[in-house]
Amino acid sequence: MKILEHTSLKPYNTFGIDVFAAHFCRARDKEALIYLIKNTLEYYKNILILGGGSNVLLCSDFEGLVIKNEIIGIDIIKEDDEHVWIRSMSGTNWHELVNYCVNRNYGGIENLALIPGTVGAAPMQNIGAYGTELKDVFLALEAIDMKTGEILIFDRDACAFEYRQSVFKKELKNKYFIYSVTLKLSKHPIPNTTYGDIQKILQENNIAAKAASIRDVADAVIKIRKSKLPDPKEIGNAGSFFKNPEVTKEVADKLIAQYPTIPHYILPNGTVKIPAAWLIEQCGWKGKRIGNTGNHEKQALVIVNYKDASGNEILEHAIHVQQSVYNKFNIQLEMEVNIISPSAFA
Ligand SMILES: Cc1cc2nc3c(=O)[nH]c(=O)nc-3n(C[C@H](O)[C@H](O)[C@H](O)COP(=O)(O)OP(=O)(O)OC[C@H]3O[C@@H](n4cnc5c(N)ncnc54)[C@H](O)[C@@H]3O)c2cc1C
Repeated sequence: MKILEHTSLKPYNTFGIDVFAAHFCRARDKEALIYLIKNTLEYYKNILILGGGSNVLLCSDFEGLVIKNEIIGIDIIKEDDEHVWIRSMSGTNWHELVNYCVNRNYGGIENLALIPGTVGAAPMQNIGAYGTELKDVFLALEAIDMKTGEILIFDRDACAFEYRQSVFKKELKNKYFIYSVTLKLSKHPIPNTTYGDIQKILQENNIAAKAASIRDVADAVIKIRKSKLPDPKEIGNAGSFFKNPEVTKEVADKLIAQYPTIPHYILPNGTVKIPAAWLIEQCGWKGKRIGNTGNHEKQALVIVNYKDASGNEILEHAIHVQQSVYNKFNIQLEMEVNIISPSAFA
């Protein structure tokens, strides 16, 4: 595996931040990767695994080795009359996997169409959109221990999935290279059309929700996403910068009394989810630009790089937004984007 020195990471992160990696390589097969882990990794100060770079904010030059995951491939490993078991290598583009499945009428991930990035990063934060989460169809993943090169299998319980969260974003952060992911999909899919926006598009296309195919749903999701979210090729961003906060019923009742129009969703565990975008918008951030960064005009939750912003400039802006939401609503927003700074590896 060729290791390059002083490599710009600008093409490898969707914020388009121009920082440099002291060392950089592309992982294209398991054997070479395990060789690298067993024989050379101890020489590097820190290791950063990069997929599509669509959920990271790079705050400074990286004084270590960046491993860009390019291990690709999709296989059907088992099937019966009802289900199909799909194993995808982690460097495969997520949307390509969605298309592969939708084209064969294997249902379960069509609502996750057009989410940027790789298959291997999907379990990191249990990606989700339009009423579906990865965990709904996830079976297992293979991960390589970054210290020993040993391969371990993690089933759904071991991944400890939560809303935009998993064990790999918490206690096992930077400890494993997710190598492959296996999903169990349905051969007789019942599309999830509960989301209002999906229903609206189906209606516009004269498709009854009950008659919709998973291709109809995927196409509707693609259309919604293109109309609502800024394309990172045109303006740097990493999607939602913050998670939607969950508060107790008591806190929610007080907020509803004070702000009767506040959108809220009661979760099965009794807590209440509040859209972070609404909170941010109420603080006046929607469409507000400060220097090279700001909150997108159509989607307040998305922080953008208008031009040549540094990672720290974006991070400072995000902290500013976080603070103003806290001051107004007494709610601490949690960042969804992975902040890559020296302290993240301390
Ligand atoms: C326009 C836009 C819209 C988005 N919409 C959504 C959405 O609807 N729902 C959603 O959940 N997310 C969304 N995201 C966020 C992002 O696309 C997902 O989190 C995606 O899974 C990140 O994949 P990636 O390969 O780009 O990860 P990267 O950004 O490369 O990495 C993210 C983190 O995972 C780690 N990592 C990456 N690959 C591996 C691996 N193989 N093994 C171990 N660790 C690894 C990295 O070190 C880093 O900490 C959006 C982003 C953008 C830009």
